[in-house]
Amino acid sequence: MPAKIIDGVKIANQIKEKLKVEIEELKKKGRSPSLSAIQVGENPGSRVYINAQKKSCEKIGIEYKLHQFKEDVTQKEVADFIRELNNDPKVSGIILQMPLPEHLNARQLQQIIDPKKDAEGVSPTNMGMVVYGKPFLGPCTAMAVMELIRSTGVKLYGKEAVMVGHSDIVGKPTALLLLDQFVTTSVCHIATGERGTLPEYVKKAEILIVAVGKANLIKGEWIKEGAIVIDVGINRVGGKIVGDVEFEVAKERASYITPVPGGVGPVTTAMLLKNTIEATKLQLEQK
Ligand code: NAP
Repeated sequence: MPAKIIDGVKIANQIKEKLKVEIEELKKKGRSPSLSAIQVGENPGSRVYINAQKKSCEKIGIEYKLHQFKEDVTQKEVADFIRELNNDPKVSGIILQMPLPEHLNARQLQQIIDPKKDAEGVSPTNMGMVVYGKPFLGPCTAMAVMELIRSTGVKLYGKEAVMVGHSDIVGKPTALLLLDQFVTTSVCHIATGERGTLPEYVKKAEILIVAVGKANLIKGEWIKEGAIVIDVGINRVGGKIVGDVEFEVAKERASYITPVPGGVGPVTTAMLLKNTIEATKLQLEQK
């Protein structure tokens, strides 16, 4: 039987409906959530993402402010601006848009963002909370992956998962969130690919998550019968957006699978909005 397609747009809309109610509550308490985005230079890819963020925020009642800097801005100027936003009580959440020009150190700038305003969950404090199993403002994509897996209703305890990709913002935190649910988790990366053992790992995965950025890296025939497949990858191929998994074949073997587009992406954006609301609540409590 072909897999059930996990509808990321529907899940994202359900999350947003709940957030709307919370935003109304916050407004009654005199607090209007706002998200400040910092963009350096112009990048067509991030422009699409920024427009989508703005639209999503405004649709549910979060004010979205975009702060643009020229390509040649210095590290200090961006750092000072982040500190300004940290100290501005009207700013609930901050997001530093990637990619940054090469002369800027993204990691250092992310470290300056107040963890209570870190809407993407990328500051060391929020990443550290993932290790403790208590993510508060968790990394958006990893949190989205967990939300999509949970939407299947499948019991996670004791399952075998394989996470392909070990990036700081997706692969590593996702693996930790899975471990926290007592899922036995293997993490594969470039060396697994080079050694040629990637198919062996994928074939034993009851839950497979792929975040690499290489179209059709995961062959459909490798998918274990009945597996849950979450495809994070975004690749442009011949004018179309596709994931990292060979979808048409994989869907005949999996029990649940996310499409690309329409899977992880919309839920990641919903997590950004959720973090902004959680940040607003935290700031209100600490007033
Ligand atoms: P990244 O930082 O480039 O990480 C890619 C990972 O894949 C690295 O760990 C890399 O290992 C590993 N890798 C590369 N080739 C491999 C191979 N042949 N076999 C196994 N592993 C391999 O990327 P990312 O930020 O995690 O993003 C991954 C993909 O997800 C991209 O397509 C991105 O656009 C997409 N994405 C989507 C969303 C969404 O909301 N839908 C959000 C974030 C990212 P090494 O580091 O060892 O080379």
